[in-house]
Amino acid sequence: MKTIAYFLLFISTHLAAQTSLHNQKKDELLVTNAMVVVGVGTPAEGPYDIHIKDGMIHAMSAASVDAKLRGTDIQQLDAKGGYVLPGFINMHAHTMYSRAGIDMAQPYQHYLWLASGITTVRDLGSDTKVTLKEKQQSAKHEIIAPRMFVYPGIWGNHSEQALKQKIAEFKKQGADGLKFGMMDRQTFVAASKLAKEYKLPVANHVGVEDMNAWDNIKAGTATIEHWYGVPDAALKGVQNFPPEMNYSNELHRFRYAGRLWREADSDKLDQVLEGMVKSGVAWDPTLVIYEASRDLQRAISSPWFKDYLHPGLEKFFQPSADSHGSFFWGWTSTDEVFWKNNYQIWFKALRDFADKGGIITTGEDGGYIYQLYGFGYLRELQLQQEAGFHPLEVLKHATVNSAQVLGQGDKLGQIRIGYVADLVIVNGNPMADLSVLWPRNIKPLTGEESTGGIQWTIKDGIPYHAPTMLKAVREMVKVSRKGNPINYLVD
Ligand SMILES: [Zn+2]
Repeated sequence: MKTIAYFLLFISTHLAAQTSLHNQKKDELLVTNAMVVVGVGTPAEGPYDIHIKDGMIHAMSAASVDAKLRGTDIQQLDAKGGYVLPGFINMHAHTMYSRAGIDMAQPYQHYLWLASGITTVRDLGSDTKVTLKEKQQSAKHEIIAPRMFVYPGIWGNHSEQALKQKIAEFKKQGADGLKFGMMDRQTFVAASKLAKEYKLPVANHVGVEDMNAWDNIKAGTATIEHWYGVPDAALKGVQNFPPEMNYSNELHRFRYAGRLWREADSDKLDQVLEGMVKSGVAWDPTLVIYEASRDLQRAISSPWFKDYLHPGLEKFFQPSADSHGSFFWGWTSTDEVFWKNNYQIWFKALRDFADKGGIITTGEDGGYIYQLYGFGYLRELQLQQEAGFHPLEVLKHATVNSAQVLGQGDKLGQIRIGYVADLVIVNGNPMADLSVLWPRNIKPLTGEESTGGIQWTIKDGIPYHAPTMLKAVREMVKVSRKGNPINYLVD
């Protein structure tokens, strides 16, 4: 017992001394004793010292080799006992400023993302002007936030002229790409042509429209978001909807989505996946955003809600015909069983897609259906493991693959000399257990087992202390709850 107490005392003073590095921009930083996961799928290696200079990875070598650097006054950050991963890329994010009419000021979301190891987000539709401004502020380190790629959303059907006006305007504002959703075939074809002219990559949320993954294959869409268009393209005819089916009814929509994969013809599906691989259409499955469909109880009772759920989200998540995705007023055990089976077929399709050479990326779509920013992303990693991917592949999807799809494969997503210094220092081994990425207090652990938790997220070479950001989020939530007592989920 005495040894343990002494050890814990050592740990706490050790970390306390380092906390002062939070948000300190220095020209140089030396991350010492780093067990490095490069990101490309190869096993961990090290321990290395990572020498960061001007926000870039300048050198990386065995700890003993860099002894001379350790003796200088370069700021040092000790990663001993943990693992160092490339910064995560969240490919399906929506920056939000209020929920269910309740103000949700940043940095609530930014802190949750960074504290979860996310150094880059692809924003797929929010307040474009505000997000573009935050993108600049983040790049200049004026705010504490992940790096942003902004893809404004275009939803539904529009005339060609209206599309041109919108896309030209988004380009002028500085958009990095476009998000299309719920378009019919004519609109999609016209919009894709314009996107190409304006050199804007497209992320497509395909719904149940007359278009499907074959249209994405023809258009060279950058990513299919979620999944709908994929099994849809492999149906023999149309889905076997019951007579009362009304697509505008969200309960119907989510219920019968859970019966879609089983109707896909396996030969046709194979051709669709092949087609996606050949034309370079990547797949951003966001497995996590449908988890409530297969296990509502799990989603509702997420342990992080107690401290981190903003009252706006709490209100938004309640079953309601008015909030998108809050369809659970009529959810049944039968729906869950269908969804559990739905997931198994979806998992297999993802594995087949990857086996054929397809690019899978990682996104969370937080802010909907009981998924909280950052926490949803970390759960997505676990679901990709459940789909059959080794943790090293899961991490590759979150880093290398996502960077590649963003057109940043030569700068982001790897711990490699000459790359941007975006790193996650985690207190534990994610290859053994991806849940070491949860904050330390989420997993019930005691004494000697008290490992886990992301300690540091480094973006552009600037270290951010994850527990410090999480503490700030808990404070923000406390303050917001004072004015907005709802307590449907909490207590
Ligand atoms: Zn979304």
